[in-house]
Amino acid sequence: MRKRHLGKMSSEQRLALGLTLGGLLMAAGALGASGTSELGRTRDLSEQIKLDIARSIHANATAMTALEWQKSGYAPAEIFQNVRDFKINEAAQALCDGLNVLTDTDLALFEDEIADEKNARVVPCAATLQDRLKQYWISSRNELAEISTSEFPERAFSRSKVKLQLPSIEVPVDAAAGPLLIRGGLKKGEIALTFDDGPHPKRTARLLEILANAGVRATFFQVGEMTTSYPEISKQVAEAGHMVGSHTFTHPQLPKLSAKDAESEIRSGREAVALASGTDIPFFRFPYGARNTYLNEFIKSQGMASFLWNMDSADWKLRDPKVLLARVKAQLDHEQGGIILFHDIHEQTVIALPYVLEELRARGFTTVVYVPQR
Ligand SMILES: [Zn+2]
Repeated sequence: MRKRHLGKMSSEQRLALGLTLGGLLMAAGALGASGTSELGRTRDLSEQIKLDIARSIHANATAMTALEWQKSGYAPAEIFQNVRDFKINEAAQALCDGLNVLTDTDLALFEDEIADEKNARVVPCAATLQDRLKQYWISSRNELAEISTSEFPERAFSRSKVKLQLPSIEVPVDAAAGPLLIRGGLKKGEIALTFDDGPHPKRTARLLEILANAGVRATFFQVGEMTTSYPEISKQVAEAGHMVGSHTFTHPQLPKLSAKDAESEIRSGREAVALASGTDIPFFRFPYGARNTYLNEFIKSQGMASFLWNMDSADWKLRDPKVLLARVKAQLDHEQGGIILFHDIHEQTVIALPYVLEELRARGFTTVVYVPQR
C-alpha cells in the first residue's frame, strides 16, 4: 500500500515545522470554506511540496545504490500521489511552481510522473514541462554527437547511422548448477551488456535498433508486470536474438518478503516473462541485487543462474547522457571488463548507448551474451 505521508520526516521534525500531514489535509479540506488562515495554510502546503521535491532530488543524488534510493521514501511517484490525494488546485499549482524552477537535468527525474496520464490530467503544467524535457533530450543528444564528432571524427556513426560492428560471442552458462555470476568469468576486454526493468513502451525498441546496428546481443532482465503490459515488446527483444531473463513480477525487495511471497514473486515473474517473450530462459536477477542465503538457495533449487554485476552505469540516477557516458568509461577503466548494469527504461540510457558502443569498439572490446548450456 502506498504511504500517504509527504516524504520521510520524523513526527518531531513535522512538529518543529508546525506541519503534520493531517493538518495539511485538514487545511486542504478547509480551503474554499471560510477561514482566516487559509492563505497561511496554502503557503505551508506549497512549501511542503517544494521541500519534498528538493528532498527527492537530494535523495537520488546522494544514494550510492538504486536500493538506497528506493528506500529513501522520496520517490517522485509518492510526491505526485500526494498531490492527487489533496484534490485541490492549489496543491497541483504548488507542484508546478516547484517543478518550474528546476534545472532540466533535475526535472528529468520527474519525467515519467509528468508524462503519466493520471497526473497530466491534474497537473496544469504537464504539457509545458513535457515540451521542455523533449527539448532537453534533443540538445543532450546533439551535444554528445558534437563532442564525439569533434574528438573522434572517424567515429561519427551515430549521426550518419553508419553501422558499427562489434564482436559478439556466446558464453554458455550451466543454469542447472545454480551459479551466481558477478564478473561472470569475463576476461579483460570482454563485456556483457545487461538491461533491467523493461520492457518499456517507448524506449526498449529504440535500444534494440542501436544494438542491432552494432551486431550486439545482450541480456534483458524483464519485470513480470511490465511484460504483462507490453508483451509484444518482450517478444520483440527475444526475437532480436537477445536473452530474456526474469527480474520478479513486481520488482520488490525480496529479502523483505516472507519466503512464500518471495518465491511467488520469483516464480510468477519467470512465468510472465516466458509467456510474453515466448522463451523460458533460466536466468534471474535480484531487484536491487538484494538477496540472502535463503533466496540464493531458492534460485539454485529452481535451476536458475543468478546474475549480479561488477560495473554499474548508475543510469537510474545520472540523467545527463554525457555524465552517464563518462561514468561508463570510468567503470571500464576500473574494471576492464565484466557484467555492466543498464536499464532499458531511461531516456539517458537510450541516448548514451551508441556512444558506449563506440567506446567499446575504440577499446577493442568483445561483447558477450550468456546462453543456457544445452
Ligand atoms: Zn531492477
